[in-house]
Amino acid sequence: MKNLYLNKGKEESLRRFHPWVFSGAVKHIEGNPREGELVRVMACDGTFLAIGHWQIGSIAVRVLSFEDRPIDLGFWVERLQIAYTMRKATGVVGRKDNDTYRLVHGEGDNLPGLVIDMYGATAVMQAHSVGMHVSRKEIADALKTVLGDVLQSIYYKSETTLPFKADLGQENSFILGSTLHNTAYENGLCFHIDWLKGQKTGFFVDQRDNRSLVEQYAKGRRVLNMFCYTGGFSVYAMRGGAHLVHSVDSSQKAVDLVNANVELNFPGDERHKAFAEDAFKYLDRMEEAYDLVILDPPAFAKHRDAVRHAIKGYTKLNARAMEKMPAGSLLFTFSCSQAISKEQFRMAVFTAATLAKRNVRILHQLHQPADHPVNIYHPEGEYLKGLVLYVE
Ligand code: SAH
Repeated sequence: MKNLYLNKGKEESLRRFHPWVFSGAVKHIEGNPREGELVRVMACDGTFLAIGHWQIGSIAVRVLSFEDRPIDLGFWVERLQIAYTMRKATGVVGRKDNDTYRLVHGEGDNLPGLVIDMYGATAVMQAHSVGMHVSRKEIADALKTVLGDVLQSIYYKSETTLPFKADLGQENSFILGSTLHNTAYENGLCFHIDWLKGQKTGFFVDQRDNRSLVEQYAKGRRVLNMFCYTGGFSVYAMRGGAHLVHSVDSSQKAVDLVNANVELNFPGDERHKAFAEDAFKYLDRMEEAYDLVILDPPAFAKHRDAVRHAIKGYTKLNARAMEKMPAGSLLFTFSCSQAISKEQFRMAVFTAATLAKRNVRILHQLHQPADHPVNIYHPEGEYLKGLVLYVE
């Protein structure tokens, strides 16, 4: 394994167990490692600090271990076992009514660059770093060892998440088994999971708890689920006894998916309608007075540079919705931009409330669920935030 030496003073964040080494901190590397290769990170005086995956880009090393140890099948089995045990402890595994959960959440599970979502007997595995891509077969073997017969197939879906410049030519495919069975359960509701072509791993597992909260508030309400994608929130609202549910997404594919998922759970139920339309256009022209609105847009800021623009976007979107909501309405509003802090998001919603001239109270402050844990040494991992507002 090649050694990588840091500039003087640049070892501090690693001593606090932060799992990234930025390229600016690197003094020199022995030899010429290939992208994805393991390197040993050393302080400038030669003290060992960590082992991780090397990659070209602003994050030069993603740390796998702060101990000098082999990164072999045993390592992957150990890490995956810890992740699985944690999910069992939170009660998300081993339930009859729920077989959808995140097993590995990157840095949150001390496995930077790796995401694994479980849908019944299928794992959808996603590499966000070249190192995880290089290790994919070993990780797949370790996963089979840890999950045993619970696991029947592994779909590897990294075509769009690997760095384009690394030119890996990766195509999505099964690395274990294969299956056409693509439905899974979340809190007793059934969903088609399009892991072959859908966004992310096919489903937004991170909204599970927040969907349950919508269900609790939905009774008798007229619900608008904006940015609905697979319609998770819509189906929960229907089970909660909503008077009507309208789902909106700019993508026709998403609208087809939400319709299929409603049909799966509530065949022939006429309370639901879906529209393929841009969110802002829909909010401008809508006639229905919705008294429970969900706004769960895609990440407006994917990078730090886009933050100011994104805050404006959140403000405009929330103001538009609030302006039209009758007194006594509920607004569930979210941001999944990692680059936007909780405070910045709350400020954007505050500005929206003043623009809409509404009296607004915060009832709940929401976040990602326990199967998307935040590593205390990596606060950047806290990405999902939401507010439930009572709009007078
Ligand atoms: N709420 C969903 C996840 C939303 S993902 C869930 O619980 O699963 C964001 C969605 O917003 C995507 O499906 C995308 O197609 C849609 N979208 C992006 N831009 C949009 C726009 N301008 N208007 C409406 N929908 C949009």
